[in-house]
Order: sequence, then C-alpha cells, then structure tokens
Amino acid sequence: MPQLFDEHGRLHDYLRVSLTERCNLRCHYCMPEDGVPLSPRESLCTYEELLAIIDTFCGLGVRKVRITGGEPLVRRDADKMILALGERPVELALTTNGLLVDKFIDTFETAGLANINVSLDTLDPDRFRLITRRPGFETVMSNIRLLVGRGFNVKLNMVVMRGVNDDEIPAFAGLSRDLPVTVRFIEFMPFDGNRWNDDKMVPAQQIRELLGTHFELQRDSDAPHDTTRHYTIPGHQGRIGIISSMSEHFCGSCNRIRLLASGAIKNCLFSGDETDLLTPLRRGQDLEPLIRKSIREKKKQHAGMFDLAEMPGRFMTTIGG
Ligand code: SAM
Ligand code: SF4
Repeated sequence: MPQLFDEHGRLHDYLRVSLTERCNLRCHYCMPEDGVPLSPRESLCTYEELLAIIDTFCGLGVRKVRITGGEPLVRRDADKMILALGERPVELALTTNGLLVDKFIDTFETAGLANINVSLDTLDPDRFRLITRRPGFETVMSNIRLLVGRGFNVKLNMVVMRGVNDDEIPAFAGLSRDLPVTVRFIEFMPFDGNRWNDDKMVPAQQIRELLGTHFELQRDSDAPHDTTRHYTIPGHQGRIGIISSMSEHFCGSCNRIRLLASGAIKNCLFSGDETDLLTPLRRGQDLEPLIRKSIREKKKQHAGMFDLAEMPGRFMTTIGG
C-alpha cells in the first residue's frame, strides 16, 4: 500500500475532514457574531466529490478519518456521508458541538462511528449562552449522557480561556468521576476573528498545576501521535487530557492532513498555504502528485512560523480544528 511521508520522515495516515463551514453556534473564540464569510456553493465539494477525495487518501494509506467542521452535523447530507464513510476501511471519528447528536445517534451506530468528541466550554447554562451566543446547554448535556449511555467512546473538549471559564477547570475534571469520558483541556489558539491575545491563553503547565491542587493526578500512557497528555485520577471512571498546541508543540509526531469543505488540503493547522484538489478533480486530473507535493513540503514545526500569535489565514470553522 502506498503511504504519505513528508521530508522529515513523518507518516501521514490521519485525515481530518471539514464537512461544512457552517455552524449552529457562534462560539466567541471561533467565529464572529455574524458568522464567517461562506464560500460560494459551486466552490464547495459535492457529496460525490468529497468522497472521491477521501477515497484517494484511503488509497494512499490513510487509516483514520475524523469528521469535523463548522458543525459537521448541519451539512445537509451528513447522514449519507457518515454512512458512506462507515464503509471505508478506516477508523472513523467525529468532533461535534453536541447539539444534534440525538438526531444522528442511530446513524453513528449503523456506521460504526464509535469515537465522538463533544466540545463544551462551560457547565453553566448562562455562560454557555455567552460563550456560544446561542442557547442549547441542556441539549448538549443530555446528548453527552445519551452517548455515554449507548456505549460511545466520548471525549469532552474544553477550550480554556483566562477570565472566561478557567474557574471551571476543577468542575470539568470532576465530570470524570462518574462519567467514563476523557475530559480534555485545550489551550486557546489564535485564529482570524477571535481577538486572540496572550493573556487569555492558560498554558498547559498552569492547567496541570491547578488540577494538581484539587486532584491526585497520575500520568497515564498516550497513544502514538497523540496530541493529548493523559492523566488518571484515583476513583474516577474517566480520564483527563491536556492539549498544549501553543506552549508545547507536538509537531515531531504529527500525522495529520486537513481536508476542507472546499476541497483544499492543509498540511498543517497553522499553515497559511493550501492545495486545491477540487479544481483538478473536476478536470479529471490525478490528485496523487498534488497530495504528495503538499505533504512533502510540510514544515518541520508549526508550518515554519515563529510567532503563533501572528498566524495568518483561515477561520477555525473552515479548517475544523
Ligand atoms: N463544531 C464542532 C465543535 O465545536 O466541536 C467541530 C468544529 S470546531 C472548529 C473543532 C474544535 O476546535 C472544537 O473542539 C473547538 O473547541 C476547537 N476550537 C475552535 N476554536 C479554537 C481556538 N481558537 N482555540 C482552541 N480550540 C479551538
Ligand atoms: Fe461552531 Fe464548533 Fe466553532 Fe463553536 S467551535 S462556533 S460549535 S465550529
């Protein structure tokens, strides 16, 4: 089976697919209030085009596909897409804000989609409305319990922001006591439209120290290529994870490729460059040389940038995290 290696010897076998730029929330740290400028419909992949590109990657050794967005479940044909991906020879995973999970749970089961990350940044309904600019806290919470009850492998993603929700770190970790979920704390990252500044970012080290004052954190093992450092707490059913994309990079073991709803690929979350695959696909061109070139040119670290706060380019909703 052909495989995708970059010039630094890293194997790329994990594709993250952003199904749509649209979202039913407007999280402050991700999207401006009025939403992001959407690409014209004709420049977005149809169901068939997106599958054709994903299949090309499967033929090049991709073994894991994560569906993300925007909010992936608001795409019109999300159902059909999840079922089709379930037939591909890949481990399938999803990142969602959780609002529509109850509508899709049977589809997830049929497709064998077992790994679901739900983003939730607060346990307070009023604060939820402030952060996401929408109601829906109770729905997300009940959907998390639904997923757990139906035996899905659930991770909760909390983006930690100083002065916004950092006071809830212990309460979030406390969720792992009775719920068999991995509660993951994510460093806030700079993106267009989120008015990022250094003060808002709580470094992983500080999150660890704070958790250590409340719980007996024990270092757990991480899977290869994992961007999360895992911990257990004695007596808790779930685990804790800390993702330090800003303060401690994990570029050395990066195996990720990002495919956007527009059919472009990005070889790094922090890269300003992308390679369009949709136009060549529509012209009947072979995509493999373009994909190989993009992966080959991947920078060793953070797309070669030195100051992440000056990160160029896209909204997170187009890239999908
Ligand atoms: N809408 C889905 C959701 O919220 O889970 C999927 C897309 S969202 C862009 C993917 C992940 O990126 C979410 O866990 C979200 O919290 C995270 N994210 C968005 N903006 C971020 C930022 N500025 N810093 C860190 N993580 C961010
Ligand atoms: Fe939507 Fe997810 Fe971004 Fe929130 S983080 S605005 S739910 S895409």
